Amino acid sequence: MSEELKPCPFCGSEAHISKNYPHPDVTIYRIGCPTCLCYLGGEGIAGLGEVTSRWNARAQPSVPEVSPVTAQKMAELEAENKRLTGLNAEWREQAVGSLDLAKDFQTQRNEAISERDALKAKLEK
Ligand SMILES: [Zn+2]
Repeated sequence: MSEELKPCPFCGSEAHISKNYPHPDVTIYRIGCPTCLCYLGGEGIAGLGEVTSRWNARAQPSVPEVSPVTAQKMAELEAENKRLTGLNAEWREQAVGSLDLAKDFQTQRNEAISERDALKAKLEK
């Protein structure tokens, strides 16, 4: 069995294998990426194993070096993001609490109005 196919070296999408039959006794394998449309394979490459090996040997995109200043800034931004996410959750909780309180006041107000109307009706009799 051939080795496992690595994802696209350019975008990381899942790679796909296709077969072509240019001649009745020849099968050509091609491995490509449906996202960025790069491919590898064709005539001159013996079989699926060889195409797979070549595809898997493609250079992986390198992760750019980050300067210490940039790394420091990124850490600060991540900390700030975490702080703001926490505040957001806290404020959301407070807003829900305020909403519940407002609903309670509304219910009490409606009850008071009903009571008043009932008393008014009694007095008018
Ligand atoms: Zn790709």
